[in-house]
Amino acid sequence: MDADVAVIGAGVVGTAVALALARRGAAVAVLEAEPEPGLAASGTNSGILHTGFDSTPGELETRLILRSAELRDDVLGQLGIPVLRCGAVLRPSGGEERATAARLAEGAERNGVRAELDPDGSLRVPGEAVTDPVDYTCALAAAATDIGARVRTGSRVVALRPVSGGVEAEDEGGARLRARVAVNCAGLHADELARMAGDSSFEIYPRKGEFLVFDPPDGRPLERILLPVPTARTKGVLVFPTLDGRIVAGPTAVDQEDKDDWSVRPEAAAEIVPKAVAMHPPLEGSEPIASYAGLRPAGRGVNYAIGASARAAGLVNVAAVRSTGLTASLGIAEHVARIVAGLGVPLGDEAPLPRRAPREPGSWWRRTAGFRAAA
Ligand SMILES: Cc1cc2nc3c(=O)[nH]c(=O)nc-3n(C[C@H](O)[C@H](O)[C@H](O)COP(=O)(O)OP(=O)(O)OC[C@H]3O[C@@H](n4cnc5c(N)ncnc54)[C@H](O)[C@@H]3O)c2cc1C
Repeated sequence: MDADVAVIGAGVVGTAVALALARRGAAVAVLEAEPEPGLAASGTNSGILHTGFDSTPGELETRLILRSAELRDDVLGQLGIPVLRCGAVLRPSGGEERATAARLAEGAERNGVRAELDPDGSLRVPGEAVTDPVDYTCALAAAATDIGARVRTGSRVVALRPVSGGVEAEDEGGARLRARVAVNCAGLHADELARMAGDSSFEIYPRKGEFLVFDPPDGRPLERILLPVPTARTKGVLVFPTLDGRIVAGPTAVDQEDKDDWSVRPEAAAEIVPKAVAMHPPLEGSEPIASYAGLRPAGRGVNYAIGASARAAGLVNVAAVRSTGLTASLGIAEHVARIVAGLGVPLGDEAPLPRRAPREPGSWWRRTAGFRAAA
């Protein structure tokens, strides 16, 4: 075997899994199709570290979000990942929305998350924070490498087949890697990866989310994340500050079939701007300085499809992590480490994290947006 575990995909989920396994002593190799980690959903999101205040109590997604919150401060501190601990506020506009806000406050309490209901019906969630999701993903990859994992970029896996005692992955350049276990963290393409190994139990489709980036219209940074009242389908269009002092409005939620269409639709601004102005009136009349789109890896009829494949020996799927993967990645990784150990890969106690110098906040949203626009 070339490795104990092959992790396919270096988004935030794959890099967190690689780090968790490497910290526990496994020989890990990460295979990533693109030239750098975090160029897919993990680099084109809102960058919000959610508290889980609005997550459905008891679900796997919720449990992993809450567990991540316990693990996160150590990771942010040791790896020097920038974070804006600004909190969020949700301001309901009418009676029905006030009732939803009150229900959210009850849910937050059940999840053990601090949320305060103001007399005017507004819900304040002090623990919500914003990070740089590109730096977050790259820091996890770098830390995994520091403690022995190998990360191979430009390595798109095109075949996954069983071999004696494990799984063999082959990339489009013909390079082969044998491992006892393969962990499928391929985001939008996780269904194709699973199918290569004979598992067609789930399907992934892209749910596009578009964003507009503004300079602060009055020169003042936004103080907190402004949340709309969510619906069953989406958290809705938010307005949030970035670490580099910009204001971002989005995302939309548009289901599509094409996994390669990262464009911002011409009609996106008309959908986003009125909602953003309603929440933050100074944006009225402002021109966006940039726009970008992300594709959520959504599962058809399934969310957080995480587990050992029932159809392909040695394959663990970590798929359909649609909307909260940045937030939940550390909890997901710990959960996956237990699954991998259950498949017979010996894991030891967790080694300490390497220390990395704190990073200056940058305009992370330019990198992935530029890469996708050029592609
Ligand atoms: C618009 C939007 C807003 C969001 N906002 C938030 C938020 O505020 N907070 C939050 O917590 N989450 C948010 N999310 C969700 C979060 O971004 C995702 O849950 C998370 O990025 C999923 O990570 P992943 O590693 O599973 O997938 P990805 O980031 O898509 O990574 C998958 C990786 O696998 C690679 N890959 C694919 N196929 C192959 C192959 N054959 N061989 C090798 N490599 C392959 C890809 O290149 C990619 O790098 C948002 C998502 C979107 C799109």
